[in-house]
Amino acid sequence: MSTSLKVLFFDTKSYDKDSFQEALSNYSGIEIEYTKSDLDPRTAALAEGFGAVCAFVSSNVGAQTIEILHQKGIRLILMRCAGFNNVDLETARKYDIRVMRVPGYSPEAVAEHAMALALAANRRLHKAYNKVRENDFSLSGLMGFNFFEKTAGIIGTGKIGAAMCRICRGFGMKVLAYDVYENPSLKDFVEYVSLDKLLSDSDVISLHCPLMDSTYHLINIDTIRQMKDGVILVNTSRGALVKTDDLIEGIRMHKFAGVGLDVYEEETNNVFEDRSDEILEHSTTARLLSFPNVMITSHQGFFTREALNAIAETTLQNALDYNAGLASANDVK
Ligand code: NAD
Repeated sequence: MSTSLKVLFFDTKSYDKDSFQEALSNYSGIEIEYTKSDLDPRTAALAEGFGAVCAFVSSNVGAQTIEILHQKGIRLILMRCAGFNNVDLETARKYDIRVMRVPGYSPEAVAEHAMALALAANRRLHKAYNKVRENDFSLSGLMGFNFFEKTAGIIGTGKIGAAMCRICRGFGMKVLAYDVYENPSLKDFVEYVSLDKLLSDSDVISLHCPLMDSTYHLINIDTIRQMKDGVILVNTSRGALVKTDDLIEGIRMHKFAGVGLDVYEEETNNVFEDRSDEILEHSTTARLLSFPNVMITSHQGFFTREALNAIAETTLQNALDYNAGLASANDVK
């Protein structure tokens, strides 16, 4: 029989602890200790005496962190998220540390948030809300356009992108997509086109591809220039897909009717909660926020009850599979 696995859970928020504690009763053989510190080279040594660590999008799971985890005897890194661009896989492989993730906990959670951002940016809901609260019922500055019969361009049609395609179809939009692989489940209503055509023909562009060398700064001044004037751009994927300075230049040249961002390049763990006003004032995120047609949220796409429950269950199942020596489709290689 395998022994109990002790997991150190980094960057704990109260909602993480609630969902994991609730799920834990169904997964015997796993013990979790929670810390509010996030994982980075300074905190990695806390893992002494544990068998595994659980980390998140915001964690620094780079080479230096992994070296220390290895010295402390860690054999498993449980990423409680889909993306793993913050993990140095080469170093993990070097020390035979297994990395597991939660690939598709609730694609609809993120896709619904992407559409919420597109709609909010289009109809200036953030501005409208503030105006009405200040007793200003005028409509100036609030005009948007119908999504019905417009063209959506979805970049990356994996689990989340496919959910976004279905939502756009539900709005009566024509759906164009660009991906390195076509998703056969979308063939009845999605037209795969080149990136150039997607950029030039779409009224709403939403990014759903992972951050990799090939997608870093995919949206830059050249690709922005290719877009239609009055386009809406949404990024719920990873901040560095968009080159922020170029986005600001594009906004200044009135390229965009609206921009909706759930992720941004300088994202740390919750920019707004944890960082001082001074840092925020000088950040490019703050520059973006100064534009009335930009709507920013704080990496909350995944943040639904259903998604949190699914993240907890899959992460704990990953831990059990590791403990039982079983291979898993959730291994990151
Ligand atoms: P997925 O792996 O199911 O799909 C990614 C798709 O991107 C695949 O179809 C892949 O072929 C495609 N792709 C790869 N390279 C590409 C390229 N160069 N150009 C175009 N497409 C390319 O992933 P998913 O579950 O749909 O998640 C997508 C991304 O969403 C994740 O990588 C993550 O960064 C982000 N995400 C954000 C949140 C949030 O809370 N905002 C939550 C979960 C995931």
